[in-house]
Amino acid sequence: MAEGRPASGVAPVAAAAEAGPAGAGGAAAGDVWVFVEVAGDRAAEVSLELLGRARELADRLGVRVAAVVAGAETETGELARGLPAYGADLVYHCTADELSPYATQPYARLLADLIRRHGPQIVLYGATTTGRDLAPRIASALRTGLTADCTDLRIGDHATREREYRDILLQVRPAFGGNIIATIVSPDHRPQMATVREGVFVLPEPQASRRGEIVRIGIDREGRGVKDSDGPGPAAAPPGEPPVPVHDADFAVELLARTTEERRVDLKGARVVVSGGVGVGSAAGFALIAELAHVLGGVVGASRAAVDAGYIGREHQVGQTGTTVRPKLYIAAGISGSVQHRAGMDGAARILAINSDPSAPIFSVAHYGIVGDLHEVVPRLIKAYRSKV
Ligand code: FAD
Repeated sequence: MAEGRPASGVAPVAAAAEAGPAGAGGAAAGDVWVFVEVAGDRAAEVSLELLGRARELADRLGVRVAAVVAGAETETGELARGLPAYGADLVYHCTADELSPYATQPYARLLADLIRRHGPQIVLYGATTTGRDLAPRIASALRTGLTADCTDLRIGDHATREREYRDILLQVRPAFGGNIIATIVSPDHRPQMATVREGVFVLPEPQASRRGEIVRIGIDREGRGVKDSDGPGPAAAPPGEPPVPVHDADFAVELLARTTEERRVDLKGARVVVSGGVGVGSAAGFALIAELAHVLGGVVGASRAAVDAGYIGREHQVGQTGTTVRPKLYIAAGISGSVQHRAGMDGAARILAINSDPSAPIFSVAHYGIVGDLHEVVPRLIKAYRSKV
């Protein structure tokens, strides 16, 4: 049975996943894992952000951080070796040419199998198309819980009438249409699993001197022998880690073509974001927001209600179901400040709110507020900034 508590924890926690042999290096089960998504030949940014938070969680628990990455050696070899710099103590590197690109069934089998073997207490995924496809299947296979789109992850205690749980994963996210911020726990099942959207956690600075152990794992297609990326046929099993059996039926889906589209709006990387809401009043009104963004060297954002009203495209949406931003300056014009909008921008270093309603909730998170009609205030801001530069 997987050990559900950290080495330093107090109360035992029931585990759902069956752990096999101890992890590489013979360490006890119960590590914090991050599924690392591959984007081209790089790790997806959200995965690196998760490694940063996993490091903090693991340090609190006194356990290790492990990254799991899969794919052909040519695409993932260097990437896997780079993950310790972002906080991984251990990298489970599953190499087989068939594992590039991502496919639902083989990855679900691979991850579920590795989790059963090693019994991590926490597994984190990016809330991306891939993460949303993969994580529920693993949760279902392991009969454990999964919290989607978390806006925070912490370690803490939880008490029911019958029992007290120490040092479990507190999975924070807006719930009931965003009217409450819920803290969700998975006290009796392991691993505790969550998906997190890109930008919620800060991208850690890589530490080139940090070292970690790379554990290479092959796959075994229906008992025909181990395959990894080194050759077309069966190869020798990587020492210390048996291959993961993958069935031919898992490869039933053939990928015929793959197209990727570049992000047109880089909200996440912007130092200044100027966002408009319903208060902007029309699509034409967004020209004013765009002008202010332009003079400040920023990017245009929007509330979901402005997007739904057809004022601007969805790629501009900031918030729980849009992009999470952390600019140096965030300007919210004509935005009320719903909890779903705030979830995507309250990490900004400075927030300026412009709203005609002095009781608008946006003022509670703003560092500076201007009460007034944005159609008067924004042109004055543009003029004032232009006269200074
Ligand atoms: P409103 O709430 O209508 O506010 C408009 C504001 O403009 C008001 O405060 C008003 O005083 C002000 N105003 C009006 N005229 C002027 C003027 N001339 N000058 C200055 N101020 C003026 N929302 C998001 O933004 N992002 C998300 O990712 C998101 N995800 C969601 C997910 C779920 C599951 C749900 C249920 C909702 C989500 N929402 C999201 C929607 C959210 O609940 C709000 O409906 C939305 O944020 C409101 O947008 P708004 O502030 O532009 O509009």
